[in-house]
Amino acid sequence: MKITSLTTYVVPPRWLFLKIETDAGIVGWGEPVIEGRAASVAAAVEELADYLVGKDPRRVEEHWTVLYRSGFYRGGGIHMSALAGIDQALWDITGRAHGAPVHELLGGRVRDRIKVYSWIGGDRPDQTAAAALAAVERGFTAVKMNGPEELQYLDTRDKVERVVANVAAVREAVGPDVGIGVDFHGRVHRPMARVLLEALAPYHLMFVEEPVLSEHVDGIADLLRASATPIALGERLFSRWDFKDVITSGVVDVIQPDLSHAGGITEVRKIAAMAEAYDIAVAPHCPLGPIALAACLQLDAVAYNAVIQEQSLGIHYNTGNDLLDYVVDPSVFAYSEGMVDIPRGPGLGIEVDEDYVRERAAVGHRWRNPVWRHPDGSVAEW
Ligand SMILES: [Mg+2]
Repeated sequence: MKITSLTTYVVPPRWLFLKIETDAGIVGWGEPVIEGRAASVAAAVEELADYLVGKDPRRVEEHWTVLYRSGFYRGGGIHMSALAGIDQALWDITGRAHGAPVHELLGGRVRDRIKVYSWIGGDRPDQTAAAALAAVERGFTAVKMNGPEELQYLDTRDKVERVVANVAAVREAVGPDVGIGVDFHGRVHRPMARVLLEALAPYHLMFVEEPVLSEHVDGIADLLRASATPIALGERLFSRWDFKDVITSGVVDVIQPDLSHAGGITEVRKIAAMAEAYDIAVAPHCPLGPIALAACLQLDAVAYNAVIQEQSLGIHYNTGNDLLDYVVDPSVFAYSEGMVDIPRGPGLGIEVDEDYVRERAAVGHRWRNPVWRHPDGSVAEW
């Protein structure tokens, strides 16, 4: 079997899909995207395609290694996201060629389903609490919300109080047993991270995410090690080599590699195994589309330390199209009791609705994240 073509589709709300075709008629899908840079990743896929066309798609490890090591320059969001989507599609083809789900080729599943969490916003306390309650009524047992809006290095107490009021309202609404993840979104600098972590401690959060940007965690390492709240991060790390210092630092309890940013299934499985050796949990980042989510679930199936899965159904970024629009059978992602089943179909376990992909690719998108400003005019982390 040989690869004959790679085709990318820029589709709303902000995604990029990849179809890899073979001379055997087997087609595989991947989702090579980093949010806000879909066209750049598409260009990277197009460059990497020169090597892949004519090759046997089933040598996934070999192709990953060549595409990572042979270009001299390596790593970073664009390259690793391109590689991630290619890796997903190659695994999809390989699974279909064997008539088996990817997790079976990786040794078989260690779980039948995995807990998922629902996004509930985070900017207005009354609405956030209502969204949390609605998620719980739909069966979710865990939710995630944004913490602060833009925050300066040193900011005012009222902003801290607003975050606390918001989290308190959610905790009050859902009771003590629902997991609440609070994402600081890398918006918080070291001085205010200390203040916020202390203020939120009484609410027994499931985790605080990106308390500071990953590159700054060493600056508050003692604080994080002492925190009774689990610390999660990793959506902006792209490889084993990016993760290794974080994993060995002792400051992080949950890593959040993104299957569409960190080299795909092949690489994230290795990252998860590294984390397991340090008793660190894995909660794959996935505010993306159905192919990325399917890839995550194949990984969750085989990573013992996978604990909870992010998913984008109803997330505020999804305007125009949502998670289930591009799959032939949306019931593959049916959530029950706050969990989703590991897909059992061949390859990634989903059927992409190619006609609809083409239709929406004709519309495309130019999604960019907003540029926020502090009151003094300087740019704020979004
Ligand atoms: Mg995040």
